[in-house]
Amino acid sequence: MGTQGAGEPRYRWLFGDQLGPHFLDDHQGEVVMIESKAVFKRRRFHRAKAHLMLSAMRHRAAELGDRVRYVRADTYREGLERAVGDAPVSVCHPTSHAALRLVTGSQQVTVEPPRGFLVPPADFAAWAGGTDRREQGHLRLEDFYRTVRRRHDLLMDGDQPAGGRWNWDADNRQPPPSAANLPVPGPYLPREDDIDAEVRRDLDRWETDGEVTFVGHDAPRTFPASRREALRALTRFVDKRLATFGRWEDAMLAEDWAMSHSLLSAPLNLGLLDPAECTERAEAAYRAGQVPLNSAEGFIRQIAGWREYVWHLYWLFGKNYRHSNTLRHRRPLPDWFLDLDADAVQARCLSTVLAQVRDRGWVHHIPRLMILGNYALQRGWHPAEVTDWFHRNFVDGYDWVMLPNVIGMSQYADGGRMTTKPYVCGGAYIDKMSDLCHGCAYRPDQRVGDRGCPYAAGYWWFLDRHRSQLQHNARLAQPLRGLDRLTDLNEVVQQERHRADRAP
Ligand code: FAD
Repeated sequence: MGTQGAGEPRYRWLFGDQLGPHFLDDHQGEVVMIESKAVFKRRRFHRAKAHLMLSAMRHRAAELGDRVRYVRADTYREGLERAVGDAPVSVCHPTSHAALRLVTGSQQVTVEPPRGFLVPPADFAAWAGGTDRREQGHLRLEDFYRTVRRRHDLLMDGDQPAGGRWNWDADNRQPPPSAANLPVPGPYLPREDDIDAEVRRDLDRWETDGEVTFVGHDAPRTFPASRREALRALTRFVDKRLATFGRWEDAMLAEDWAMSHSLLSAPLNLGLLDPAECTERAEAAYRAGQVPLNSAEGFIRQIAGWREYVWHLYWLFGKNYRHSNTLRHRRPLPDWFLDLDADAVQARCLSTVLAQVRDRGWVHHIPRLMILGNYALQRGWHPAEVTDWFHRNFVDGYDWVMLPNVIGMSQYADGGRMTTKPYVCGGAYIDKMSDLCHGCAYRPDQRVGDRGCPYAAGYWWFLDRHRSQLQHNARLAQPLRGLDRLTDLNEVVQQERHRADRAP
């Protein structure tokens, strides 16, 4: 790591996910930002994601005005050289192993502690408590989350959790009501401006010139690209939508893509919002009697629990975690999935969710886990390729957040370091938690035949393939006993082998 010379370097380098005021703190000097087209040349990103990233960077540059040296370059090294020569710069701890390697490998760069997270690395290390605790399998979200609540005095009444309980899951996670949409005001949607028009022209030109190819629709921008927009989105969520967040947190409706979710992951991960202001606003709404406790707690659990946990696990698990493949899944992703070709898919749940990804580069947690990730896991797709797919297609996808969520939580490729069992489910769960089975070509309660649900059959196919690896997992004892009782297992397996990677 570069060492700081006399005083604060004159320049602060901001990466494209460090766009809020907390990444400058009291830095008074100039700012460097580097926009790289090469990033988009290397992999096929969702166009809405490329649009959002560029729009957010250019909005920040416009806010900073004369203070910023905004350079367009192929690589960061070249950009830095063009912006400041070999002058010293400071940077806040970046969010990926690759970027950290880059900045720590340069004598020119001083690395400041991370911003944009609640829990400092030392506090996480103290909680994780060294190797013993990890090896005994005690590194679990619920324990971490309670420690964060206490340490940050979040939703606490003295030393007790507000309402006397830490966990309101029993009140949350209800199936959706029998209506096409939740009875909830819609989310904040930004209005595009001249910067967006310029971004769109640039992206059109890159595509026409054949330099870059994208996937998905670049419809009107859905997510905030500036601090002002991000604050508006937060306010609208807390004032109008948080009250129903908990109850329908896990539900899905075909027509209601946003449900009661906050849509704040993109502005949080761009650094436009600080998590502390999100949790504070949610707690204030609860204390003022505007939202029920189960909703405030459910939301705070996501931000102060899951988001922090995932961030620290990314660093704890290290750079080789991305190669984890305990289940030895090696099948490549099929073209219809790579191309977000929702029209090629008959299964209504998968077709609906794939269309939502195509249209916005975002779906909420349950479609990610139980529709997309579950399908990939059942089919045995390569976990690193699945991770790459999520990363490229989701507006909120960054290395740090994708690896634990996809490799660990969704694909169980780490053999249970992150979760206690694979997140795999059949059609019955999807039917219970959504309206997505209504009018589908398949029946969630049927495994075989023309109407045999690919999720129902895929569930048993997965368990059968991995029986020996999973048999020691107590949480899977019941499903594995069910597998033994299945009279049509051979038929299911033959059918699914035959279906292989054809669009279901
Ligand atoms: P809400 O439901 O309103 O939740 C509030 C906030 O909590 C989110 O904005 C997010 O910042 C945070 N949060 C909740 N769960 C997680 C989590 N597991 N990890 C990190 N933050 C969390 N989240 C991302 O931010 N980026 C990703 O690339 C990403 N990839 C995912 C991939 C898979 C397969 C799965 C299962 C989950 C992934 N998540 C990811 C977590 C979660 O799905 C999204 O954070 C959430 O859906 C974003 O929508 P929202 O802002 O409306 O969230």
